Amino acid sequence: MRVAKHLSALLLATIAFQAWGAGPRLYIFDCGLIRHDDITNYGLSNADTDVRELFVPCYVIEREGQRLLWDGGLPLAWVGRTDFEALEGAYVTYKVSLIDQLAAMGLHPDDIDYIAFSHFHLDHVGAGNAFVNSHLLIQKTEHEAAFEHAEDNEIFDPSLYDKLVDAETTLLDGDHDVFGDGSVRIISAPGHTPGHQVLYLELANTGRIVLSGDLYHFEKSRELGAIPNFNTDPEQSRQSFARVDRLLDETGATLWIEHSKALADSLNKAPAFYD
Ligand SMILES: [Zn+2]
Repeated sequence: MRVAKHLSALLLATIAFQAWGAGPRLYIFDCGLIRHDDITNYGLSNADTDVRELFVPCYVIEREGQRLLWDGGLPLAWVGRTDFEALEGAYVTYKVSLIDQLAAMGLHPDDIDYIAFSHFHLDHVGAGNAFVNSHLLIQKTEHEAAFEHAEDNEIFDPSLYDKLVDAETTLLDGDHDVFGDGSVRIISAPGHTPGHQVLYLELANTGRIVLSGDLYHFEKSRELGAIPNFNTDPEQSRQSFARVDRLLDETGATLWIEHSKALADSLNKAPAFYD
């Protein structure tokens, strides 16, 4: 009897461990908000949608004790600003820094093993330099654009990420399986910038998700196939739309448009998580 009891306790512990170890957890952080009066730069007319606000997310994906940061939010220098015109026609609000939100969960930037950004525009790498001790996963084409020719793209701000030139780095040439088990995969989707990428996730309970980066900014962008006038390559953008559509078809994954405020408002933020 005693042995059986111990066995069942062990069995329960094993099941609990497997449940925890079964797949990744996705944490979502509020890393700011951008408001525009005019959205025509996004390849839309102002009549196409009433939406004028873009949510700015950061994500941490945790799998068996290892962590990936995906996208780094607005510049940390804008924390505390409310509806501040940071760029012409772009009003930003950023309440609590990503660093403080991580600290509230007992995490320091050095606890993040890997960092990957959908691309290096300033609303996606705002906390970049805080993660110099993490391992950077970046497309070779994005690395060249952001570190060698940043002056060619006015939405790159190297002061936000220049220290990452010293970070341990893997230069990617296409898709990449982050943890080696297929559950977290970087998918190359260039066009918005030379090395833009999206993130495919297999979550045991929530299901399969693709985090869009800036493949689309608005729900309406996807519906209309809108291409912002600041994309580096419109034809490549169209090919990336098709490539991600195929991935969604083949896997049954749901596309989460990262900047969609309506979506973000419906999701639980960290320390809550999706698994
Ligand atoms: Zn963006």
